[in-house]
Amino acid sequence: MAPILKADIWVSSRLPLAIQRAGKPSAFSPITCTLIHGESNAVLVDTPISIGQTEELIKWIEDVAPNKGLKYIYITHGHGDHWFGLPLLQKRWPDVRAIATPATVAHSNQQLSSGRFNDFWLKLFPGQIYQPQQPAEAWPSSSFEMEGHEFQIIEVGHTDTHDTTVLYVPDIHLVVAGDVVYGDIHQFFGEANTPSKRQEWLRALDTIESLNPHTVIAGHKRPGTVDGIFNIQTTREYILAFEESVKVTGSPTELYERMQALFPTRLNPHAILADVLYLHR
Ligand SMILES: [Zn+2]
Repeated sequence: MAPILKADIWVSSRLPLAIQRAGKPSAFSPITCTLIHGESNAVLVDTPISIGQTEELIKWIEDVAPNKGLKYIYITHGHGDHWFGLPLLQKRWPDVRAIATPATVAHSNQQLSSGRFNDFWLKLFPGQIYQPQQPAEAWPSSSFEMEGHEFQIIEVGHTDTHDTTVLYVPDIHLVVAGDVVYGDIHQFFGEANTPSKRQEWLRALDTIESLNPHTVIAGHKRPGTVDGIFNIQTTREYILAFEESVKVTGSPTELYERMQALFPTRLNPHAILADVLYLHR
């Protein structure tokens, strides 16, 4: 019998922002990292942001998969909050290959441009992001393998940003969804700022559903929520509610308040503020 493939998730703390949002202290959404491991190898999907978070993640991997070699780190999309931990992970596992689609690598490089890196990421988290940064390498194929198990890279277009992907592991019916799916966290529409981009996001959810997964792991999730297929539907409902709210509200504040009232359990309502700032600039 082939060795069983297993998966574990690590959910980061909420990293405090160095700037205020709406005149109040704020923190980033929790970030999910997924470890899929076989007999003696493992694949990690996505990393957290800060040096401290990444050190915690490394310790966790050592506990969860002791003596297993990290073969790949797959990065689902270009936003820095999903790959700034790479250099520290590569120091700990020098043989690991950090991989992503060519479009994700291009997007990652844009995140390192001085405007984005210095004026956005370092303003939010001064002194906490490892430097120098090096994005993942461009993987030329739409799949890779570990111990005979196939990992499929599925490009799903614009969701909470452009050129996003999900990782599908058919042997365990698992989809690691990156930011295509959110787990009870307010969703980021700062870039999905037109109805047509939000339609594309809805189509991406249909694509995940068509794979008939048993487990769907959200890139940002409330610790404790189960990674069930209901995450597809709740993410869809949130997009539809946002679409409706953009129409029926007259100001960013009203939009912010309506989304909070509709989804009171979701963490990080300040993500909506980031949306309205983008939408109305
Ligand atoms: Zn993200």
